[in-house]
Amino acid sequence: MSFVGIVTHGGAGSPKEWQDGCINSADIGMQRLLENRSAYDAVLESVALLENDGRFNAGCGSSYRLDGKTIEMDAAIMSSDGRLGAVACITGVKNPVLVASEVAHSPHHILTGQGAVLFARKRGFGEYYPDIQWAKERHAKLMETFSKKKGDLTREWGVHDFEENWNFETASSEIFPMDTVGAVAKDKKGIFAAAVSTGGSGAMLKGRVGDTPLIGSGFFAGPYGAVACTGIGEEIMKKLLAKIVYDWLAQGTAPEVACEKGVHLFSKTVPIGVIAVSSEGAGFFSNTGMAAAVLERRD
Ligand code: ASP
Repeated sequence: MSFVGIVTHGGAGSPKEWQDGCINSADIGMQRLLENRSAYDAVLESVALLENDGRFNAGCGSSYRLDGKTIEMDAAIMSSDGRLGAVACITGVKNPVLVASEVAHSPHHILTGQGAVLFARKRGFGEYYPDIQWAKERHAKLMETFSKKKGDLTREWGVHDFEENWNFETASSEIFPMDTVGAVAKDKKGIFAAAVSTGGSGAMLKGRVGDTPLIGSGFFAGPYGAVACTGIGEEIMKKLLAKIVYDWLAQGTAPEVACEKGVHLFSKTVPIGVIAVSSEGAGFFSNTGMAAAVLERRD
């Protein structure tokens, strides 16, 4: 029996109402898989669609850094047939994941900052600067919170410290962007792929890079499956979360169980979500709400 599957997500903490975006993105990916296209093509198109949605914190919906002006994005794509490309802190492009895919077809695997931007221009990506009203509002709220309760928020940027003591009326999830996007898939040939894209998380300095473009942290794909993670990048990268979950898939753990085990490596105060696919099936788990969609076909 052959199995193809795809999982998409809209970020740890993304509201259920945004599920339609994940479903549309999984639908287009599944269409490609059923047309005999590769898992790589499927996750690429799925994540590009999520980047174009505008609600998610990636591509067109990316959040501002602390200055309220700077947008820097990370994205990556990897497949079990050896393709790997990532961009970190890229600016002025609409679809970072498409640039990451171009990097996968260059002599390198990761390009950062201005180098990534110039590479994108060379490969024909035009200038694009999103003007997202809600990102402005969210940044204004963040600034207000900072000015009122400075001391509480400056001990490390991560949610790790202040979530436990959060005492504002506004939920922290409304202030700190977490709605990164990702997709994992298995195609008819048995190849796995993962793609991820984000505008970052939390209160970010210029040049900050999270887990998203780091192999083994935000994503991983190999002969036994594909994994993508979301949540606080500073925490995810310390555990190499994607590779840990992948190793459980390789040992035969079911995807949903492997995702749950991965999430349980973190304190409940750290929002985390994981999606995964193996030759057994596809699944996801999060310790906070997470818009996601799973599509599987067996024949
Ligand atoms: N992991 C991403 C980052 O830290 C954010 C997210 O997944 O929401 O940049």
